[in-house]
Amino acid sequence: MVAALEIRNLHANVEGSPILKGVNLTIKQGETHALMGPNGSGKSTLANVLMGNPAYEVTGGQIIFDGVDILDLEPDVRSRLGLFLAFQYPVAIPGVTLANFLRSAINARRRDQNPDDKGISIPEFRRLLVDKMQYLEISQDFAGRYLNDGFSGGEKKRAEILQMAVLQPKIAVLDETDSGLDIDALRIVASGVNRLVGPSLGVLVITHYKRILDYIQPQHVHILMDGRIVESGGPELTDVLETSGYKPFFEKYGLVPTED
Ligand code: ADP
Ligand code: MG
Repeated sequence: MVAALEIRNLHANVEGSPILKGVNLTIKQGETHALMGPNGSGKSTLANVLMGNPAYEVTGGQIIFDGVDILDLEPDVRSRLGLFLAFQYPVAIPGVTLANFLRSAINARRRDQNPDDKGISIPEFRRLLVDKMQYLEISQDFAGRYLNDGFSGGEKKRAEILQMAVLQPKIAVLDETDSGLDIDALRIVASGVNRLVGPSLGVLVITHYKRILDYIQPQHVHILMDGRIVESGGPELTDVLETSGYKPFFEKYGLVPTED
């Protein structure tokens, strides 16, 4: 059965202020969606709420993943169910190598399915990792570095894509995977995502700029303004952004631009 992430009339507060004001969105395995919107519209808030960041207070609505209401589930449980979030600002974990981090994540999942599981063997893990790194054209020595510690913007994003390849989620949410990337890094990251996209993976690409959508082509595009999806359509929805930015959307919906 095809898994779906269904966001239903979702409301959320940040520090007491309403930021999400009724978001409705369904993403199925095999589909690529883009969520676009100006700064401050609530894009990262939505990503954080999806993953269960406790700093974000859900005040209404539902998030159904693969038929299960996940709102009361901890982030690690959501992850083990097959939901993946690539953060806009990944945290560094000095002392933990990328390889060890990935191995722990795999083992947590295996133990979830079978409490007696002894964990993936080192040779088996190495084969898996080497295989994924070759596929994504990531250099081998990358796995031995401490997670995100001193990584460039492009390296952090690449580490996230590698995590996605190893964890094989059903639905992945990529928040501003393009921010801070030069064009070469952007191409590498986008080609990594494109290699992973397929019938068993659904992707929500969250972005302010149209740029990454030249490389990752979504079938569905949604515009988020002031905590609500105001328009949904195909890639043509982004055409106006090229020339006029979000101005026409602010005007059409009677909203006041905050930053842009
Ligand atoms: P976007 O990702 O679309 O730029 P955000 O979801 O980051 O938007 O922010 C939406 C609004 O919520 C902004 O007004 C922002 O200032 C506020 N906000 C987001 N996260 C926090 C936070 N951790 N603390 C305080 N305010 C926040
Ligand atoms: Mg953001």
